[in-house]
Amino acid sequence: MNNFAYIKARSLNEATAAIQTNDRAQYVAGGTNLIDLWKYNLTNPTVLIDLTPLAGQHTVDEQNDGTVRLDALMTNAATAYHPLIEQRYPLLSRAILAGASAQIRNMATNGGNLLQRTRCYYFYDPTAPCNKRVPGSGCAAITGYNRMHAILGTSTECIAVFPSDMCVALAALNATVNVSGPKGDRTIPFRDFHRLPEQTPERDNTLLHGEVVTSITLPPEGFANNYSYLKLRDRNSYAFALVSVATALTLNAGIIQEARIALGGVAHKPWRVTEAEDFLIDKPATDHTFAAAADIILQGASGFKYNKFKIELAKRAIVRNSMMALNPESQRPGAQPSA
Ligand code: SF4
Repeated sequence: MNNFAYIKARSLNEATAAIQTNDRAQYVAGGTNLIDLWKYNLTNPTVLIDLTPLAGQHTVDEQNDGTVRLDALMTNAATAYHPLIEQRYPLLSRAILAGASAQIRNMATNGGNLLQRTRCYYFYDPTAPCNKRVPGSGCAAITGYNRMHAILGTSTECIAVFPSDMCVALAALNATVNVSGPKGDRTIPFRDFHRLPEQTPERDNTLLHGEVVTSITLPPEGFANNYSYLKLRDRNSYAFALVSVATALTLNAGIIQEARIALGGVAHKPWRVTEAEDFLIDKPATDHTFAAAADIILQGASGFKYNKFKIELAKRAIVRNSMMALNPESQRPGAQPSA
């Protein structure tokens, strides 16, 4: 580990000003992914700007317009167990609790969850070519062991997946991300926050240098009556998703009025296909209907040597999870079938 300077931020302005002075300055909050990256020599900050002293902002605030603001520095655990999140946005609560371990959720922040990097094993292996780690070096995963990798939105440069569970629910809920930086504040729709690898896989998201996530805004509608989060993985805890699905529905006498379906574990960002969601409107909420939507969502999916199974797995997961969304009781802790 290299020597580095450590700054405790006293204000956002001070933090964003400090990061401009050095290309190798980085923000830290929970540090749960940063320390991993540092240990593997994938990052070497010379200045670490600790945002955690910006206390007093660790809140879930309901605004006058009915939206709810999640502070970026609030921990994942505090967010998942907050009464307003549990009651109005249980999909988000379930997705957060499906991720990582209790110990990590106690440290990891909401902002950091959005910014975590891929868990592609070649990314963490300095002996392997990896365009995300060293642009232009190649991608060991394309011809290597790619069981965990993407089936949608891949490029010739990278087939990594984004590992978050929380973000799959935030995508389904149409959250927005509020950021602050040297050039001021701006709001980014969740669908535009993470990006596909294309020819520049070293960039995971659309943040500019020096920008920091300050909060996440949830729309008033939380789909608390008909929702479900399903995570399929190789073991039942502390493992990343092979495929995950967040489903949120509005129903009237069994007919779908509104539908949101977001996938995790299949692409470089949470995956939504609005054409499939539009297709579901005014259709009966049956497995047959959801299977037709799943076919639309997986159109264009393409597997590699070890992960072709994900295409059929994702289709079945969409149908199973959407049928579970019809029965909120299935989401009670302990009621969800083992993945
Ligand atoms: Fe690197 Fe992406 Fe290829 Fe993994 S999939 S080795 S992260 S370029």
